[in-house]
Amino acid sequence: MVKALVVRKEGEEKPVAAVEDIALDMLPEAEVTVAVEYSTVNYKDGLCIGPGGGLVRSYPHIPGIDFAGTVEASTDARYRPGDKVVLTGWRVGEAHWGGYAQKARVRADWLVPLPAGLSTRQAMAVGTAGLTAMLAVMALEDHGLSPGHGPVLVTGAAGGVGSVATAILARLGHEVAAVTGRPETAEYLTGLGASRIVAREEFAEVTRKPLESELWAGCVDAVAGAMLGRVLKQMKYGTSVAAVGLAGGAAIEGALITPFILRGVNLLGIDSVMQPYASRVRAWERIARDLPMDRLEAMIQPATLSDLPQLGRDILKGQVRGRVVVDVN
Ligand code: NDP
Repeated sequence: MVKALVVRKEGEEKPVAAVEDIALDMLPEAEVTVAVEYSTVNYKDGLCIGPGGGLVRSYPHIPGIDFAGTVEASTDARYRPGDKVVLTGWRVGEAHWGGYAQKARVRADWLVPLPAGLSTRQAMAVGTAGLTAMLAVMALEDHGLSPGHGPVLVTGAAGGVGSVATAILARLGHEVAAVTGRPETAEYLTGLGASRIVAREEFAEVTRKPLESELWAGCVDAVAGAMLGRVLKQMKYGTSVAAVGLAGGAAIEGALITPFILRGVNLLGIDSVMQPYASRVRAWERIARDLPMDRLEAMIQPATLSDLPQLGRDILKGQVRGRVVVDVN
């Protein structure tokens, strides 16, 4: 038997999540069985623990879009018992059973060897949110971002993606302007390396102006909505915004074509879920190198399986600070 957070749903009732003991043979068929050590809580986990958000295909369901642990058994030559591995994305925890259990059985293609220099706990402090932040920074660099050209804006800064993006960008020598709707997180954000805190309200108004003053040398945006509409108009000539999330809405409100055609601004879409293996490995190596571990430690909120129903509700309300690390044992 293994301990797991199981979400059950009866008919039209709301899904209910609770910690249960389940038989090992209930795990789905796949090549690699992993003894999970840590998981985490992302926005999508909040949906899969609670309302489902159209992501969960069938119940009972075990959520957890990320996990890190040790291979226990493998029929795939790439992995052997004892190997440390990390998994993010591939719709694990949504369409497939995920990491909120002491054991997980998954396809070998979905795993990445744990990068040297990272523990399984640190890998889950990074998780999908941190991997996505790194992919966003790499995309900005591929499009010309380098230190010394002005402040880089991070929106939703006190959240998971924003916290990791702030710490990485600061470590790489960028001046980071962190946008938050929670003024009480200012000290936390400056501790991660932000040199300036910007109030979320500054971007709340949807304007019809085609362009505003050029302020930002780059942006990692986890929010979209009215915020992204305003940010695009404030980008410096030839710079890029990495669009990561939709915490503030699925549309880009008040956006006009002007920043793209008069200032050569780029909008770069970032997806972590189906990211090819080679680029995942490259991103994890960059994380191990460029994310200061003391700052990662400052982001961690520890939790256990039984904390997850509440944490799922909290993250959907934008009330989780930094990164939750769930010890599933
Ligand atoms: P978090 O909830 O940890 O962070 C989101 C942050 O956005 C909040 O902490 C808050 O920051 C801010 N925010 C929340 N609601 C609003 C609002 N209405 N208006 C403006 N700002 C708001 O989530 P994650 O960091 O894990 O994920 C952020 C987004 O990125 C989500 O939409 C998620 O689905 C997406 N995502 C996408 C991935 C991809 O592959 N593209 C992978 C991972 C996440 P503050 O309090 O500082 O203002």
